[in-house]
Amino acid sequence: MSYYRDTYAAIDLDAISYNVSQIIKLHPSKTIFAVVKANGYGHGDYEVAKAAIEAGAGFLAVSALDEALSLRQQGLDHPILVLGMTRLRDVFQAAKYGISLTAHDWEWTKSLLILDLETPLKVHLKIDTGMHRLGMTSRGEIVTAFTALSNHPMIETEGIYTHMSTADSDLSYLDDQVQSFKMLLSELDVSKVSYIHLENTAAILQFDFKFDQGIRLGLGMYGLNPDPGFIDLDFQLKPALSLYSHLTQVKFIEKGSKVGYGATYVAPEGHWLGVIPIGYADGWIRDHQGRSVIVNGMECEIIGRVCMDQMMVRLPQKVPMGTRVELIGKQMPAERVARELGTIPYEVLCLISDRVPRVYFRNNELIGIRKMRFDQL
Ligand SMILES: *Cc1c(COP(=O)(O)O)cnc(C)c1O
Repeated sequence: MSYYRDTYAAIDLDAISYNVSQIIKLHPSKTIFAVVKANGYGHGDYEVAKAAIEAGAGFLAVSALDEALSLRQQGLDHPILVLGMTRLRDVFQAAKYGISLTAHDWEWTKSLLILDLETPLKVHLKIDTGMHRLGMTSRGEIVTAFTALSNHPMIETEGIYTHMSTADSDLSYLDDQVQSFKMLLSELDVSKVSYIHLENTAAILQFDFKFDQGIRLGLGMYGLNPDPGFIDLDFQLKPALSLYSHLTQVKFIEKGSKVGYGATYVAPEGHWLGVIPIGYADGWIRDHQGRSVIVNGMECEIIGRVCMDQMMVRLPQKVPMGTRVELIGKQMPAERVARELGTIPYEVLCLISDRVPRVYFRNNELIGIRKMRFDQL
């Protein structure tokens, strides 16, 4: 299998394994829920899930039932938790494929309880302790829901969880959330619940709450720090994804030459220019204009508007056509790209579209290619 345009994301699966094993060292007694939603934060959910499981993760987590079913279809039979809301009419499909669901709301749970389930269903009760996204807030409803779910013959309450909204920014608010979660747990008989879980990467890297059995590892597994300014690490995470392209044309432009749609860049003097086959349809958005990419170790400014499929850079000197360009990688970490775009690394990674092939490496050797658009030829 191959791909026919020199723009690709290189995924180092050894980095995924390494990051998972580092986190296991920090939390040796807990089950890692490897979060592979959104196609594994753009890395490829199936490949990342396999690497995470091999490295010791015990559970997978995705956002939607479709993502879970896609992993099942590709042959993964490990436990998977859907973190988002699942429509009641789709619950049977989840039960059939042994996928754990989130009971996020009391009305939803009431309707679930009267469904005619023929296959056992596992659920995780989601408690809103302050994020105010999914989850139950009322103490009374939580206690009633927990009791009813626990007494249902076809339902196993496999987990109880909450989600932290400020683990990378406000530890006092985080503490409030942890305390209210603990308070609620103390009112429930959780002896039959396998997993109490609340930590995301930002919490995992900083704390070890003693009352939880699971941790939900997303960004850290991909080797990135949610907020390097806020969270100090005394070990390295290894970023797994690099984004590369190659120069498709190199030419000299005269002083005053106008570059790109809208002619927004005017060459202040004569200089070399390179064309790179990546654009906003690849997830390389127009906001990158004015940032840099790496060509032969040199930082080169993106000049003119980013087009749908291509963009131009200013080169400090002539370089051969075909020269490799690093857009994200060792010299241009995703954290820096995110900072310069005014966003977070999560968004930068998820934006990389399915037109960009994912190329997988182990021991620096290419072991597989995943193209979302077509599989043969
Ligand atoms: C995405 C997500 C996570 C993972 O968060 P990271 O910061 O990437 O570790 C954990 N829990 C829930 C509910 C999520 O939606």
